[in-house]
Amino acid sequence: VALSRPGEAFLDATKAVVGPQGWIADPAEQERYLIDERRLYRGRTAIVLRPRSTEEVACVVGLCHQHRVAIVPQGGNTGLVGGSVPNEAGGEVVLSLARMNRILDVSPLDYAMTVEAGVVLAQVQDAARAVDRLFPLSLAAEGSCTIGGNLSTNAGGVNVLRYGSARDLVLGLEVVLPDGRVWDGLRRLRKDNTGYDLKHLFMGAEGTLGVITRAVLRLFPLPKQVVTGFAGLVSVAAAVDLLSRFQAATGGRVTAFEVLPRFGLDLILRHIAHTADPLTDAHPWYVLFDVSSGEDGAGLTQAVEGVLAGALTGGILRDATLATNEAQARALWRLRESLPEAQKPAGGSIKHDVSVPITRFAELIERAQAAVQRLIPGVRPVPFGHLGDGNVHLNFTQPEGADTSGFLAQWGAVNHVVHDIVHELGGSISAEHGLGRLKREEIVRYKSPLEIELMRSLKATLDPLGIMNPGKVV
Ligand SMILES: Cc1cc2nc3c(=O)[nH]c(=O)nc-3n(C[C@H](O)[C@H](O)[C@H](O)COP(=O)(O)OP(=O)(O)OC[C@H]3O[C@@H](n4cnc5c(N)ncnc54)[C@H](O)[C@@H]3O)c2cc1C
Repeated sequence: VALSRPGEAFLDATKAVVGPQGWIADPAEQERYLIDERRLYRGRTAIVLRPRSTEEVACVVGLCHQHRVAIVPQGGNTGLVGGSVPNEAGGEVVLSLARMNRILDVSPLDYAMTVEAGVVLAQVQDAARAVDRLFPLSLAAEGSCTIGGNLSTNAGGVNVLRYGSARDLVLGLEVVLPDGRVWDGLRRLRKDNTGYDLKHLFMGAEGTLGVITRAVLRLFPLPKQVVTGFAGLVSVAAAVDLLSRFQAATGGRVTAFEVLPRFGLDLILRHIAHTADPLTDAHPWYVLFDVSSGEDGAGLTQAVEGVLAGALTGGILRDATLATNEAQARALWRLRESLPEAQKPAGGSIKHDVSVPITRFAELIERAQAAVQRLIPGVRPVPFGHLGDGNVHLNFTQPEGADTSGFLAQWGAVNHVVHDIVHELGGSISAEHGLGRLKREEIVRYKSPLEIELMRSLKATLDPLGIMNPGKVV
């Protein structure tokens, strides 16, 4: 179906729906809705629409359907694959959910919270904590990303190994379908086997099947204590071994287990203010971990210390430190979270967001580093991230003094080399960021034709006009 550019009649009708505070046509004011987080894409649009309610979203989407105008849903615009911004042609409208930011209901007894799609993730975490509950989704963009974006990208973050990714944290959804009808799936049931589980279609769909307007989120008991530590190791294989020892000794209570290389720590210490090396000597690899418990008492710390002592004598571990208060724990986490920022001054970085079974994690890093070194001698690998769930951000910083644009021109070739290895090891080329625009073509190389066909037929069934976030995912 041929799509149309937004005409005067369409623009007048949508403005009337959202009211004077609900739209932006001035290009300067639109700017922040049009450039993606990584500054890879800069789009154009006739109008940014900012509805306040499900009813307004439904009317706007209905008008888009009637006028054949394409829609790009947007939350916090922190996505890393270019999914949340319109294309350069100017014919797509941006539908920002940012003003739908109310927490509608918190039920500690049901361990559930009902929120609008535009609520910022950190506010959900705070609201849960206020009633002695935990909403475990946690990522460095949590101060600005929204629940609607988290669910639409099926976001991961640092607690996936214990609590699952965003789709595991949802009981019910409300979605405005591409023709403007509203699907009310806002149930708060733990058990509901009444046919296909439709909510899962919209999670991870990156806005290509409908607009998520509300969600019922799952809450968990708030841990009474969290032991945070930082360890230096000889190898990634040793880190995998350490994780397994922790899980066995604590009954699976590891809630975060992040890995970073020495070069990554060097960048942090050099470029991020007020940071210090937590250990005395330098080590090839580090892990940052949280082990949590619902019980008070010294048992958890003793278990963690026992594992560390065993690993030290077993030659797995070189050194480690445990935070003794919250400020120290925060300082350790700040190191990990500032790594993406610390990479920037070192020049261009070719990025990957991949996952493999944990048993293949060390092999992946070893093989990918060697293969990319062969392609670009002197390249500086910065593989870091969520070892606990098998997800690594396998980034490569340009060789010292290299020409940045010449280096970045090899992005596609490097991607192929790394993704081929990931595929051979039974992994995924997008562990948590999604496909968006960045990996739309790359995925066709790795997913089976049957899976691609099924994805396209779902898209055609739900969005036959193709107005929902065109050019993304499929
Ligand atoms: C510093 C930093 C760290 C990050 N760390 C992580 C991490 O650890 N794990 C991780 O998974 N991601 C991470 N991200 C990526 C990003 O924060 C997540 O993808 C986040 O879930 C996006 O939320 P958002 O509200 O910003 O969505 P946006 O960027 O606005 O949108 C993302 C996608 O969802 C669609 N969308 C947004 N809202 C809706 C809606 N209501 N209905 C339908 N579609 C919608 C958009 O069209 C787009 O395709 C990080 C990003 C940054 C900048």
